[in-house]
Amino acid sequence: MHDHAPTPAGLSRRQLMKAAGVTTLAGLATAATTGAAAQPATRPTRRPRDDGATLVLLGTAGGPTVYGDRAGISSAVVVGDAFYLVDLGHGALGQVAAAQLSTSTGPAARPLSGLAGVFLTHMHSDHLSEFGSLIINGMWNGITDPSAPVPIYGPGDRGGLPPVLGDRDEPPVIAPEDPTPGTVTMTSRAIEAFAQDLNERLRGSGGVDPGAAFAPHDITLPSEIDGPVDAAPMPRIRPFLVHEDDGVRVTATLVEHSPVFPAFAFRFDTDTGSVTFSGDTAPSDNLIELAQDTDVLVHEVIDRAWAEARFPEPRTPAQEATLKHLLESHTTIEDVGPVAEAAGARALVLNHLVPGDGPVPQYRKAGRGFSGRLIVGRDLDEIPLGL
Ligand SMILES: [Zn+2]
Ligand SMILES: [Zn+2]
Repeated sequence: MHDHAPTPAGLSRRQLMKAAGVTTLAGLATAATTGAAAQPATRPTRRPRDDGATLVLLGTAGGPTVYGDRAGISSAVVVGDAFYLVDLGHGALGQVAAAQLSTSTGPAARPLSGLAGVFLTHMHSDHLSEFGSLIINGMWNGITDPSAPVPIYGPGDRGGLPPVLGDRDEPPVIAPEDPTPGTVTMTSRAIEAFAQDLNERLRGSGGVDPGAAFAPHDITLPSEIDGPVDAAPMPRIRPFLVHEDDGVRVTATLVEHSPVFPAFAFRFDTDTGSVTFSGDTAPSDNLIELAQDTDVLVHEVIDRAWAEARFPEPRTPAQEATLKHLLESHTTIEDVGPVAEAAGARALVLNHLVPGDGPVPQYRKAGRGFSGRLIVGRDLDEIPLGL
């Protein structure tokens, strides 16, 4: 589970991955649709996966803009019959169904059966859009066992409002009595916000109290962090354990997404390989340490030329501050390859593309400075870990 040692097998693995290629469910989806038309009562059979763990990209667009051909940011790690979700951008649950992550079959099969954990990198809407949907619709999609609630791990309360950027006037404070709730409070507030629906359904159709079906956790920060960090760089910290079960060991670190705090990267180690998710971050030494010798580094990326064109000169101080924030809290196409190289990753998978409708050849430039395999992620790509 912790085989991080760089060996000649690393090259062989890379070559094998290249030979095996990245599979996509696009062709399968076509076949499944055809099959469904012929046998409307039969749920499409889940695509057989290799015995090892698999990364599935559910959505690859970064930012709150909604695109037609890329869903919002979300990924899955599939290990045997279980799967884990990292972030829940817009469209995530539909993508879970399209990817057929659940192994359950038969009339009672539901897309979320087998969901064994949810990991939220940070409290930005493009990573959380479908969080409420997961909570209120989970019981109808396979989250039905209060004796084994699905763990959710995410940031705790920020501990104070972030600074106002640029020369903007002080804006209104949303929910001033508790303006920076963490994962536990976000979950309970989501349940309360949709109480009318939940009460009606529990009384009319039965089902499971979502407050019992999920077990939210505010990730405990390392003891050396004693309050919100409002400016880069983050303190250097050692990776720390977040979750461990029979299938995965998940560790985390703090990354550079100022003024967001905390912003996490996650690493999943399995018996057959590892995958590390950068979350949203500028180049981060903490991330490079977490991702050391990982099989697959899933890293965010932003097109600097697009960002600069979005705010043409002359810029107001507020526009200048926003542009600076964009570029200093994300990783540019030019910078991401060297990050993957420093981590010793065997493959670099780009996700959280900003913009989500940018030309793929532009993102391919991220291969400069990286000697492993570069994959510009597409929704529903499947990448085996540790071939
Ligand atoms: Zn984001
Ligand atoms: Zn973000």
